[in-house]
Amino acid sequence: MTDPNDATPITQAQNRAVQDALPFADRQDFDDAQRGFLGTLAEIEIKHDQGHVVWSLRDYAFLADEHAPPTVNPSLWRQARLNMTNGLFQVTDRIYQIRGFDVSNMTLIEGDRGVIVIDPLISTEVARAGLDLYRQHRGHRPVSAVIYTHSHTDHYGGVRGVIDGREVEAGAIEVIAPDRFMEEVVSETVLAGTAMSRRAQFQFGPTLPKGPRGQVDAGLGKVTSRGTVTLIPPTRTIMAPIETHRIDGVEIVFQVTPETEAPAEMHMFYPALRALNLAENATHNLHNIYPIRGAQVRDANAWAKYLNEALDRFGRDTDVVFAQHHWPTWGNARALDYLRRQRDLYKYLHDQTVRLMNHGYKAAEIAERLTLPKSLASTWHVRPYYGTLSHNAKAVYQRYIGWYDANPANLNPLPPVERGKKYVEYMGGAEAAIRRAREDFAKGDYRFVAEAMSHVVFADPSNVAARRLGADALEQMGYAAESATWRNAYLLGALELRGGQASPAARAPISPDVVRAMSLDLFFDFLSVRLNGEKAEGVSTVINWVFSDLGRTYVLNLEHSALTYLADRRSADADATVTLSRPVLNRLVLREISLPDAIAQGLVMVEGAAGKVTDLFGLLDDFSLMFEVIEPKRQG
Ligand SMILES: [Zn+2]
Repeated sequence: MTDPNDATPITQAQNRAVQDALPFADRQDFDDAQRGFLGTLAEIEIKHDQGHVVWSLRDYAFLADEHAPPTVNPSLWRQARLNMTNGLFQVTDRIYQIRGFDVSNMTLIEGDRGVIVIDPLISTEVARAGLDLYRQHRGHRPVSAVIYTHSHTDHYGGVRGVIDGREVEAGAIEVIAPDRFMEEVVSETVLAGTAMSRRAQFQFGPTLPKGPRGQVDAGLGKVTSRGTVTLIPPTRTIMAPIETHRIDGVEIVFQVTPETEAPAEMHMFYPALRALNLAENATHNLHNIYPIRGAQVRDANAWAKYLNEALDRFGRDTDVVFAQHHWPTWGNARALDYLRRQRDLYKYLHDQTVRLMNHGYKAAEIAERLTLPKSLASTWHVRPYYGTLSHNAKAVYQRYIGWYDANPANLNPLPPVERGKKYVEYMGGAEAAIRRAREDFAKGDYRFVAEAMSHVVFADPSNVAARRLGADALEQMGYAAESATWRNAYLLGALELRGGQASPAARAPISPDVVRAMSLDLFFDFLSVRLNGEKAEGVSTVINWVFSDLGRTYVLNLEHSALTYLADRRSADADATVTLSRPVLNRLVLREISLPDAIAQGLVMVEGAAGKVTDLFGLLDDFSLMFEVIEPKRQG
């Protein structure tokens, strides 16, 4: 495989311009990131019980150099260095944070009986290591409660590393989450899970080599940990816009902020501690209205509105503001300034996009045109390390009027392979296209070179020259990108163009805890999206499902290549009736047992036409994680 190239003189000049434009002399963030440091591990390398490394900062040792190499945008280099801070930190009286043990922070608040854990990271191994470090410094306090600020995996997945589910079942430990937490956890990770998992490789870059020519950061933190993901459902849900509770003796004012960074999210204010926790709605970067891994588009207007309400309601009593990523901001004046800028960042992005949209600009034009107002541009914590103005403006546009730009020429364009072939034909053949693209590459027109070479690759994925030139162009864009997620996407694209994609892993992993948490409705939704419509052509089946332990029945209907269901119904003339328990259903979903085996072992009883049931399962597709992205899909 071709090794990564150096930065071209054009890329180097672009990166030098960044160095000159931004206030690198301002070291406040470095001070804040280190403030309250109590200690860390001798070496940050956390392993799974079976020995594989779940989390390591060793490979990032190259970031010790203060000066950005020519292959990394200096602004991103700075953020990547800040995200290296790791260990246990005191935020204020009673409040501590574990940072640098995952992409997210774990916050700990000391109560009367024990310690409240807020957002136990992605996996149990890192969460446990974080709690151990805390206890080393603060004594062996029991965990008295767990709070999830929102429905993303990096804020709940490690929960079984800090508490035992039995203590929750016994009522000894409360688990608190915002309204709709469970629904959002499962809907995001189950139905679209495979597509998102593959696309997330491009966003976070976990499979990229780390280094000055590879992954340096993910913007919000280094990268995502790769251990055991768990979930314990909440025992208390915060429903009202504002609710105040005393948790282990700590007064907490919860502000529910739906449809912001996550569909289910909440802020917290701790009045006695004069501390404001903004979950993930105000971090030290421009966040995503749409993450490039793919997700439903978020509401930038609601995001700004809830930050404004937090500012109004809690601002004057706040001495420190912090979030579940990055480092805190201390002092009332600085906290207020931070909040105002974060609020206005999202409001500006929303309003200016909608204004330009109503002037008739298309999403791509708005994305090209929108820049930060001068009063915000030199503020480090609004810089685009995670989201960008460009893809966020497109997301705001999409939220209101969708993907279509209203130009009928774009209403029904040819799909990628056919389009690629026609482009290549019109460009006078692949060789002519590559020749012209080489000239543009020399001029630094990497954006169009990448696009043109993508057409050639889609027309003929075996064209090595086009793949290499396309990779070279993506790579230079990666080197110049201020956004870590764009850098990761460009560099993984280049890697796959040069060497093909990594060997196809099995299906996207699905956490057993998430499967157990799925509602029966969601289980049937999940079956439905796996139905292969072509294979199901002409098949009609009606099946009753009886969940013996839950006392619930469902009727599942297949006709016209579509699966539909009704809860709490039973059909008198069903082809078959399937009786099973919920735990057996979970094992089937997790593929711990096949349906024929479950029937043979008597775990699933079928009355009527058993063949109809196995036939239906034969119509379901399996998804494999490693689908093609930068080249045509192979059959499958
Ligand atoms: Zn997060």
